[in-house]
Order: sequence, then structure tokens, then C-alpha cells
Amino acid sequence: MKVCKFGGSSLADAAQVAQVCDVVLADPDRRLVVVSAPGKRFKDDIKVTDLLIACANARLDGKPTDEALAVVVARYREIQETLGVAPAVMDAISENLATTLAGNVEHRERFMDAMKAAGEDNSARLVAAELQRRGTDARYLNPGDAGLLLSDEYGNARLLPESYDNLARLHEAEGITVFPGFFGYTREGEVVTFSRGGSDITGAILAAAVKAEVYENFTDVDFVCSIDPSLAENVKPITEMTYREMRELSYAGFNVLHDEAIIPAVHAEIPIRICNTNNPAVPGTLIVAEREVTHGAVLGIAGSGGFCSVLVSKYLMNREIGFGRRILQFFEEEGLSFEHMPSGVDNLSVVLREDELDTATTERIVTHIREKLGADSVSVEHGLALVMLVGEGMHYTVGVAMRATAALADANVNLEMIDQGSSELSIVFGIKEADRKAAMKALYEKFFE
Ligand code: ASP
Repeated sequence: MKVCKFGGSSLADAAQVAQVCDVVLADPDRRLVVVSAPGKRFKDDIKVTDLLIACANARLDGKPTDEALAVVVARYREIQETLGVAPAVMDAISENLATTLAGNVEHRERFMDAMKAAGEDNSARLVAAELQRRGTDARYLNPGDAGLLLSDEYGNARLLPESYDNLARLHEAEGITVFPGFFGYTREGEVVTFSRGGSDITGAILAAAVKAEVYENFTDVDFVCSIDPSLAENVKPITEMTYREMRELSYAGFNVLHDEAIIPAVHAEIPIRICNTNNPAVPGTLIVAEREVTHGAVLGIAGSGGFCSVLVSKYLMNREIGFGRRILQFFEEEGLSFEHMPSGVDNLSVVLREDELDTATTERIVTHIREKLGADSVSVEHGLALVMLVGEGMHYTVGVAMRATAALADANVNLEMIDQGSSELSIVFGIKEADRKAAMKALYEKFFE
């Protein structure tokens, strides 16, 4: 059995939904199909999920919602009418959207998740109906009925492990099951979503639960590339990579696969194939547990902005037992998670996502560290980007950091921080956001050209 997941661009319009059905029907092993909500049809288009978020916000702010809802309904109607799916399916979709929008708004986040989830839920109804129209034994399955249980962290849920036993039963389901991605239910029966892009996670969980032969993640690119293709010419495709490499690259900015989608596949040892809905014959990128390192040390270069760093110095910090723990405790008490913590003899910095740190929190943290830990200086640096070199081969190769820093120096990029993970699978460079593209290009030229 293969589990296949189709992303938003693969469901953006009628022609794409038809193509999805062709791909599913081309292989009898594709019996569990996970779908996203309709995505962008063209560059400046708006994803259905974003339209739904706008609808939800209008309702929460007490503003009119009719027009915004009509735009969402029209996206589904174009698909239903063009494909010739029964009008009753469209009636059910319209009703579902209207009822969800009229739902209880007392718990704002819960309402928002119910609205977001309606995107994939109705997408799955439509795809199942189109497969049926073509004479296939296919059915829509609600994640609640399947037993996909998640934590009640609205907008950022995590899987509850008992789900696996429930979902394993899907292996025995007759015909083709069409499953909406991105959401599940809390133990109390409320709809809750993963973080954005979370249909990838649903696919990985289902693949692990049914012990699929492969998890096929259909998207709109032929391969995962070594760097964002808009940054370099003739970018090298990656044909095979390890789970660890993909996890690091997704974390650091590759947006082909959600970084939390790797873990379920790792535990169940299910290979993931990233492939193109519109070019399904191309083998794509295979993500596996181990690979032979046949090319250079570096497999991919990722980067993303939106980071800041809290820099702390104190003379003789190295002799003060518990200093690091106490600093991190302040962050913990504020509910902040940190990304990196490089340290020197008398200083250390805590790197975290900028959107976690508002002005009031920053002031509290700085005052605490200064007063309670007696730090000599505490400052916060904003506007940072992290650029990451990733590759299993780095472990065996001498001089990667030296070549990388030389490339960055030649490109006139100032380094704020370097951090090499203990696994020697990646090196992270903290730089100014303004230098990110130049830095990534320079690194690509050094390691790939
Ligand atoms: N539709 C959701 C989003 O845009 C989830 C997904 O597509 O994976 O984030």
C-alpha cells in the first residue's frame, strides 16, 4: 500500500484535481490519499486556507462575512462544475462552510482551527466525489471517524500516540480512502490543526500507521534542489537524501516538506518520495534512513530570516556553575523556545525566533539576566538570518567550515555566529538578514560550481 499526499497547488483548480485523480488511478497501490486545501492557481492568487482565515477574522471582528465566504465557495464550485461532479456534493460543501462560519466564537483559537480545517475537509469531499464519478470505489473519511487524535494546542497540534492503533485499521479499508490533511480532533472532540503546511504531517502519520511501502508526497517540483532555485542557475537536483538531512533542511528554510513530517516516517522506516503531480514519471527525491555519500560533503544550503540573538557577557562565566541553566530558565518561564546557544569563554548568546520576543518580554529578560545573574552586559540583536549547510558527508570531510567562511568573507558577509551541531551533519551561520541571499549564493558557488 502506498500513501500519497497532494499539496495545495495540486488541487488549485479543476484541471489539477483531474490530474490528481489520474495519478491516483495510475497505480492500484495508491489506496490512501491525503489532500490539502486548494492552493494558489497563479503567483499572486490566494490559498483557500488564507481565504478561510480572512473569513474567520471578519467573523471574530464582528464584520460582514458574506463576500469572503462567497469567494471560498466559488473556488470549490469552479472545480465541481468543470469536472461535472454531482451538484449535491457542492451543496454539502457550501453548507459545511456556512455552518462552520456560523459556529461558536467564544474560544477564538478553536473557531479559527475549525475554519482552517474546512479547507482540506471539503477538498477531500470533492476529490472522493470525482473518483466516484469516474466509477472508482472511493470514499471520503473524516479524521475524527478514523481516530486521528491530537493535542489541544490549537494551530500547532501534536499527535497523540494512541492514534496509531486507530489508524492502522485503514490498511484493511476497501477501495480508495480520501483523507483530509492538516487536522484531527482533540480527545474532547474539537477540531484542531497542525501548524501551517501540516497536511504533510497527516500523510506521514498515515504512512507510518498502515506501514506503507512508501509515502509519496506529490508537489509541484520534480526534485528537491540543493538550494532555492531562484538563487542560482542550473541548480543541482537531489535524488536521494537521508531523513536527517531533510529534517535539517526543512527546519532551516526548505519549504518542500514540513519539518515535523519526517519523524513519523523515521520511526516506521517508511521511505518518502517527493514527486511532481504534473510530471509523475520523474522519480523525484527519495528520502531514506541511510545513503551512500558519493558526492561532496554538502548536500543542500538553506536559509531563513526572522531570528534575533540575546548576547550575554560576564567575566569568568566559564567558572560559574549553573549560569547557562539559569539563563535558559528565564526563557522557559516566559514560554520561549530557543534555537541555538553558541558560547565563548565569558559570553554566550541565545538565538530565537524574532516573533517570539515582543518588546515587553525582551525588557523583562534583559533586566532579569542583568540583575539576577549579574551579567556585565546584555544586548539584543535583531534582523538575523540563519544559513545552514547540510550533508551527511561533512562528518568525513575536513575543511568544510574553512571553505564556507572563506566564501562568506569573499562575499563580504559578516558572521555573527557559527554553530556546528554535534552530529556534524550541519553548520549554521548567523548573519544579517540583508546578507542572506548573497551568503547563500556564495556558499552554493563554493560547494557546487
Ligand atoms: N492548507 C494548509 C496550509 O495552507 C495545510 C497544507 O496545505 O498542508 O497551511
